[in-house]
Amino acid sequence: MPVVLILGGTTEARELAGELVGEFRVITSLAGRVRAPAPLPGEVRIGGFGGVEGLVAWLRDEQIDAIVDATHPFAAQMTAHAVAAAERAGVPYLRLDRPGFPPDPAWTVVASLEEAAAALTGDRVFLTTGRQNLRVFAECPQWFLVRAVDPPSGPAPARMQVLLDRGPFTVDGERALLREHRIDVLVTKDSGGSATEAKLEAARAEGVAVVLVARPPGPSGVPTVAEAARWVRATTPSRTKLW
Ligand code: NAP
Repeated sequence: MPVVLILGGTTEARELAGELVGEFRVITSLAGRVRAPAPLPGEVRIGGFGGVEGLVAWLRDEQIDAIVDATHPFAAQMTAHAVAAAERAGVPYLRLDRPGFPPDPAWTVVASLEEAAAALTGDRVFLTTGRQNLRVFAECPQWFLVRAVDPPSGPAPARMQVLLDRGPFTVDGERALLREHRIDVLVTKDSGGSATEAKLEAARAEGVAVVLVARPPGPSGVPTVAEAARWVRATTPSRTKLW
């Protein structure tokens, strides 16, 4: 059976594993950031590979036939490593990149979390950019509602409440949350995906400002799980291993 590596950490990675398992030996790789990841179809490996070198060696050891990089749009380092390792090892690589959120001219779009911290308006912020990098907001005077899957650690805003939760979220639920905490501004990454889009619709409905962090640059790819599955099926039979 051909072996497919899915670089995971997203809903799309889970869906693709479900689509391919049985037809291929599917190994999904997770970084290990989430303490209790949701179950995945197929095999799972957890933890970094040890940079490009480590990944090249791992691809060789596991005789990987194709890589689908379905990591989060902001996991730029993993994507750069995967592109480099795939080229070095001669393993076909595809980026599965879900579309960003449908743009809204009312949003303030910034290039980084640092720019987001500088662009804050109002006193009460809903921060959904993940538990890492909270230090970027540590000097901000505003009050923060921080929603994350696991508890944050390290430097963080002085005035902060943490809400541990995992999507998908509903528009009604998000509107209630914005009202309950009297939120002035929502800060989010342009992650895309229906599981987290509800907060943007809720912000629009509640008149809450939005600061959107734009995606880092990366390789072009396909936007859907179906297209990624088609690519795997078309790619793996004709593959010639370099090792
Ligand atoms: P990153 O900065 O691009 O990656 C940092 C290092 O973590 C990589 O060099 C690699 O270590 C390891 N790594 C990342 N993803 C991996 C994977 N799927 N399997 C094995 N090792 C992985 O990544 P990040 O932004 O910290 O994100 C980590 C994971 O969380 C990703 O898998 C991503 O899909 C998921 N995620 C990220 C975000 C986000 O906003 N960044 C949001 C939701 C989910 P080595 O160099 O040792 O191989």
